[in-house]
Amino acid sequence: ISTPVKVLGIAKNSFGLVEDAVAMTEEAFAPSLNDADFGIKVENVEKVTGKVTIADAEIVVSAGRGMKGPENWGMIEELASVLGAATACSKPVSDIGWRPHSEHVGQTGKPVASNLYIAVGISGAIQHIAGINSSKVKVVINSDPEAPFFKVADYGVVGDAFTVVPQLIEKLKAFKASNS
Ligand SMILES: Cc1cc2nc3c(=O)[nH]c(=O)nc-3n(C[C@H](O)[C@H](O)[C@H](O)COP(=O)(O)OP(=O)(O)OC[C@H]3O[C@@H](n4cnc5c(N)ncnc54)[C@H](O)[C@@H]3O)c2cc1C
Repeated sequence: ISTPVKVLGIAKNSFGLVEDAVAMTEEAFAPSLNDADFGIKVENVEKVTGKVTIADAEIVVSAGRGMKGPENWGMIEELASVLGAATACSKPVSDIGWRPHSEHVGQTGKPVASNLYIAVGISGAIQHIAGINSSKVKVVINSDPEAPFFKVADYGVVGDAFTVVPQLIEKLKAFKASNS
């Protein structure tokens, strides 16, 4: 950027921490701008309340068609709740109507740049991976050891989600209780 004043908007968690000795001056932003100063007009702002949003979340628990049906999302929500995470899903899951479109992650959905991304019963198609590549640590739970998601995972559990997820919740709850 070659202009004398540079204004940057950076998505939360979109890059890792890098120490740099460059001197920097931080200035308070005294807004004197109004709508007329911008080339775009905000028509509507929709905010999700009472939940951690995918974009802001440090941790995202995401699930796919491997969950078999919307009635099984209780364990995904419980895992997210124990971790203070947002919930997300693959495209077909929102297309079928198991979950809201606001949770759809990937190339045609929302990008995720969380510190921890847990994918349950998601195959790891390239269009899904495209949206979560910026996440720092990826944990995959899938019953198929050949699922493509394992190729990009930092940690993988080959197992049935209906066994693994409840055990994970139990362990995390016990860990939290012993540390409180
Ligand atoms: C133009 C285009 C854009 C697309 N954009 C997106 C996008 O933005 N986001 C996106 O997600 N997809 C997108 N897709 C779709 C994508 O190609 C995949 O079809 C989709 O991601 C698959 O979703 P899934 O992994 O939930 O389902 P599936 O492919 O059906 O995979 C389900 C997985 O669950 C596992 N499983 C089954 N039972 C269990 C169990 N009991 N326990 C544990 N694991 C189990 C299976 O082994 C499998 O790996 C796009 C496709 C196209 C063509």
